[in-house]
Amino acid sequence: MKLMEHEAKAVFAENGIPVPKGVVVRSLDDLAGALADLPGEFVLKAQVDVGGRGKAGGIRMADRATGVAIATELFAKDIRGCPVREILAEERLLITHEYYASISVDRSTKGALILFADEGGVDIEALARDRPGAVRRAALPPVISRIPSFMERDLVGAAPKEIGQVLQKLYQVFLRKDAMLAEINPLVTTASGVFAADAKLVIDDNALKRQGITLNRELSPREREAEKHGFSYVELDGSIGVIGNGAGLTMATLDLIGFYGGKAANFLDVGGGADQERVKYAVTLVAGVPGVKVIIVNLLGGITRCDDVARGIIEAGVVQPVIVRLAGTNEAEGRALLAAKGYRMLDSMEEAVDAAVEATR
Ligand code: GDP
Ligand code: MN
Repeated sequence: MKLMEHEAKAVFAENGIPVPKGVVVRSLDDLAGALADLPGEFVLKAQVDVGGRGKAGGIRMADRATGVAIATELFAKDIRGCPVREILAEERLLITHEYYASISVDRSTKGALILFADEGGVDIEALARDRPGAVRRAALPPVISRIPSFMERDLVGAAPKEIGQVLQKLYQVFLRKDAMLAEINPLVTTASGVFAADAKLVIDDNALKRQGITLNRELSPREREAEKHGFSYVELDGSIGVIGNGAGLTMATLDLIGFYGGKAANFLDVGGGADQERVKYAVTLVAGVPGVKVIIVNLLGGITRCDDVARGIIEAGVVQPVIVRLAGTNEAEGRALLAAKGYRMLDSMEEAVDAAVEATR
């Protein structure tokens, strides 16, 4: 999960990284009310979940006289497809130098990869491509709790020692917050000290619970219903309803649908040990989404019994064709029940997906 700049800055500040003084406003009234507390000259920064806001016009210099007018423009803007709902109004920094610092998870070493460049504020990918020598890097194994001094020296080079201290704190944030990425671009020097002028923090989605973060994405009524019943269920925008058991099998089914040129309308993972009632409920739920032309049920029987699955499918009795691939416990009984009712059963997942995609054509 990627935090907004102001959220990331709050985390940085809690961990001792200096950030510019600022306030988040969600309306023009908010800003008008905050003007008295802001310095005479400030920066208005659109809080959107995309990079390169500066280039896209999302970072604007303002003062007490122009602030509201500029904020009006920003709120009306759409930065690379993202509407602007929040603006961070921040003291304007008199920047003397911009550095780049980031720490990310390196999947190959399963440790931390630290990048540092004397030229910040720029697109780091472009810099790494055009002048690889300008980006210094160091890898840390996961057991190390502090950047070793020799490594800090090699990374920051001739930059002021405060920059090295910020890098150490950034590493603390990275560890404490289970981050996939902690980035400051630019990390700036000014006459009054160093500051994280921008902040990016991406938290590992698998650590959200440990971090005490609950996502409140808007669920559709059906998604809420599914959640109540303990199903993993997600709505997409295609025409094939997908039911599987286990995240792996369900995702593999979705991948195959993509490969065959189809598009899923939704997918539901019934989980382990699904009984007749749950299967019936799952099929009914998936079939109830407008635009679902065909349903594919791809289940492996283990604790789940194929005959129970078959009864659930039959009881649901939905109007759309249901294409079934069942394998495992009581497979023969399940197949016999479905065959008697004229359901299409296919032996392999590929055949089943092929048939489902063809049915939508
Ligand atoms: P991004 O474009 O989304 O990465 O947004 P940033 O927050 O990194 O801002 C882009 C650029 O705007 C920075 O590299 C700075 O050059 C400039 N900038 C941002 N804040 C300030 C500020 O307070 N003072 C000055 N002079 N420049 C700023
Ligand atoms: Mn930036």
